Amino acid sequence: MPRRGRHRLLLCLGLAWLAGGGLAWGAAPMPASALWPPPLAEPTAHDRVLIIAPHCDDEVLATGGLIQHALAAGAQLQVVILTNGDGFRSAAQRLAGRKRVSPAEFIGLGLRRQRESLAALALLGVSARQVIFLGYPDAGLERMWVENWALDHPYTSRPTGQHASPYPNSFRRDAPYAGRAVVDDLKTILARFRPTLLVLPHPGDRHPDHGAAYAFATAAVYELGWQTQVRTLCYLLHKAAWSEPPGPHDGPILAPPDRTDAWSALSLTPSQLAGLRQAGRCYRTQLAVLLPFMRRFLVPKQFFAAVPWRELGSSISGAPSITAAFDTAYPSAGPRVKTLRAARDGAHLRLSLELTAPLGTGSSCRVYLHPLTPARVEAPQQFVLYPVRPADGLRVTAKGLLLEALLPCEKGAAGVILAADVRTPDQRARTRWIVLVGH
Ligand SMILES: [Zn+2]
Repeated sequence: MPRRGRHRLLLCLGLAWLAGGGLAWGAAPMPASALWPPPLAEPTAHDRVLIIAPHCDDEVLATGGLIQHALAAGAQLQVVILTNGDGFRSAAQRLAGRKRVSPAEFIGLGLRRQRESLAALALLGVSARQVIFLGYPDAGLERMWVENWALDHPYTSRPTGQHASPYPNSFRRDAPYAGRAVVDDLKTILARFRPTLLVLPHPGDRHPDHGAAYAFATAAVYELGWQTQVRTLCYLLHKAAWSEPPGPHDGPILAPPDRTDAWSALSLTPSQLAGLRQAGRCYRTQLAVLLPFMRRFLVPKQFFAAVPWRELGSSISGAPSITAAFDTAYPSAGPRVKTLRAARDGAHLRLSLELTAPLGTGSSCRVYLHPLTPARVEAPQQFVLYPVRPADGLRVTAKGLLLEALLPCEKGAAGVILAADVRTPDQRARTRWIVLVGH
């Protein structure tokens, strides 16, 4: 069957599933423990709910139930979509009907995905004026967070060839593809909307754009000094051996992946579930290529985690051990950072990383961090902890599975947002993004 015809068939099968047979999942048994996770404290009429989505579809897959609860309660609601999903090659190839896709066709996919989000959200009762598109590059958010930070050093999207938003409806016209611009946009939106509840991707989501979206929004909250004023909930979509890789017979996601975080559960009524699935049908470009993944989330439960910021003390021996590893083996059981401890040490940051396995030839371990000075998230820094390069001016020692490092830290920095990763020849495993604040 020609590619285009095959994709059409897949899409038709997918829509048929959503319309009919897929609803059978609504009757799936409850998870073994009915007491865990506890029910979510739902938004009330006094709430102002701001939802941050990295791509067009996350807002419904992860929060379509929450949106319906919030609107039914009379809460105010705003949805912010960071990218238009314009780097999704297989979706663009399906639309074009061929393998080679032009930059203009990737941008066309972005515009189409915006329309899909607006149609889906309209079905849930969200008007177009409650949706803000920032227009940043799909698959580029992490690079903008860790590298292309300054406005004069923007990231260039490989699919679209753009280094600033080409979309006329971007929140900031011609938004430069730079991390600082994202934080500034989010600060402006937060300051205007004054949310009481902020809903973000989970900091450990294995999709780089999702982890970075958490970091950007958290940076905006830090710069506004709102960390104690706004309740934050995190949703998870991508995690190995939980939602990925989806097999053809994988069932619905009806429980969080583990108890590392303080999860709570939102239950959808039958009519809310029907609304969620109807909204899901709007994402035709995604259903055609991601149906097995998407249908796992169009189910009667959605899960949200409270992820607290940690304190940055001055003693590494007294510092809490933070569970940093998030993914289990995927695609293979390579080494990764299991736990992390950090402390301020004069003008330095002292780090202790515990690995799950020794780092072999061809492996590397990096730390990515943003110093936090008063009301300001500073430009990113990157340090290679392994293999150790003496010229870097770092002090790193390796003892068994422990990597200990003394990193130079920005003057006046009282805190840090950081993550580490381990790369082997066949995979990359990033820790969650961790916020450590001092006094
Ligand atoms: Zn996404």
